Amino acid sequence: MNIHEYQAKDVLKKYGAPVSAGKVAFTVAEATKAAQDLGGPLWVVKAQIHAGGRGKAGGVVLCRSIDDVTTVATRLMGSTLVTHQTGAKGQMIRRLYIESGCDIERELYVSLVLDRNTGRVAIIASQAGGMDIEEVAEKTPEKIVQFSIDPAAGYQAFHGRKLAYALGLEGEANKQMVKLTESLVKAYIELDCTQIEINPLVVTKQGTLIVLDAKVGFDDNALFRHPEIEALRDLDEEDPAETEAHKHELNYVKLDGTIGCMVNGAGLAMATMDIIKLHGGEPANFLDVGGGATKERVAEAFKLILADKNVNAVLVNIFGGIMRCDVIAEGIVAAAKEIQLTVPMVVRLRGTNMDQGRKILDESGLKIISEGDLTQAAAQVVVASKEAA
Ligand code: GDP
Ligand code: MN
Repeated sequence: MNIHEYQAKDVLKKYGAPVSAGKVAFTVAEATKAAQDLGGPLWVVKAQIHAGGRGKAGGVVLCRSIDDVTTVATRLMGSTLVTHQTGAKGQMIRRLYIESGCDIERELYVSLVLDRNTGRVAIIASQAGGMDIEEVAEKTPEKIVQFSIDPAAGYQAFHGRKLAYALGLEGEANKQMVKLTESLVKAYIELDCTQIEINPLVVTKQGTLIVLDAKVGFDDNALFRHPEIEALRDLDEEDPAETEAHKHELNYVKLDGTIGCMVNGAGLAMATMDIIKLHGGEPANFLDVGGGATKERVAEAFKLILADKNVNAVLVNIFGGIMRCDVIAEGIVAAAKEIQLTVPMVVRLRGTNMDQGRKILDESGLKIISEGDLTQAAAQVVVASKEAA
């Protein structure tokens, strides 16, 4: 789960991170009021959407008067911001963050992520922070330093000193960096984060550090331990179909293709998507209905798949292990009748009682092609999808 910049700063501030004063605004009037309360002479109006790249897209604007803040807020609030991370559709701006501006001397990059190879929290940093960090990573990767933290020993002061040195920090900023590193590692572990990214972390003209942008992501599977974090969720920023899927404990990710996929098990779902592509089709989604694919779950999964207007054919690929194929087939038939399935559907059932399962499908009177072989099933669904297009 991701949260907004202003929420991330609030969270990090509680851990002692230096942030500028700021206020969130849901209306233009609130933005003006926030600017008045903060006082000048410099303000930054920042669009709050979950995607990055706002600066380059005009979603971060420096203002030198309260009138300016009002004008910019009027323009941004309710408008759609298209950044290199939002896709062409963009994201509507519903919240603005009004922050006291600062004088920037240098922009640095610091992030914490889980290094899956070592299973450790990794710190990635660069002196070349700011809006061009992607280009730095691509063209001058030597400007990026990386090291990880041994989980047995945990955070040690030398980690902080190492980072401060790597970032070329001296005096007060150096001391601040050592403290900040400890705060970030603590927050990362205590809050079950998947990512903390500060870009930029700035050194001001006065020689102090400020966290100027913050992106924090959390492990969904650990959210039950952090109700206060879960409360920060902004459903406007999430895909409605994925939210609905979450309610029914379905793992669903919407994609851009035309073939809806219903599969049990994440690995089998990936393999199913691969084989569709191998035969020249495009999957419309990733969907793992889980081990216990009950009739209700199957029905919910169908609704999700068919709510996507791009879907013109469906491939069901289910392995009956603990669940028996005949029970699954009954579920599929009942669900297909309930939601009045109109697009062609290829069902591949394999495993316990598969013959009974296929018989149920064949005798259902529905437009279902039952198939035992995955290659055949994939080839058929691709043909069906192309015919329907
Ligand atoms: P992003 O583009 O979505 O990552 O948004 P950021 O919050 O990182 O802001 C983009 C850029 O705006 C930063 O890299 C800064 O150069 C600039 N910026 C943000 N806040 C301030 C500020 O208080 N003063 C100045 N001078 N520039 C700022
Ligand atoms: Mn940024």
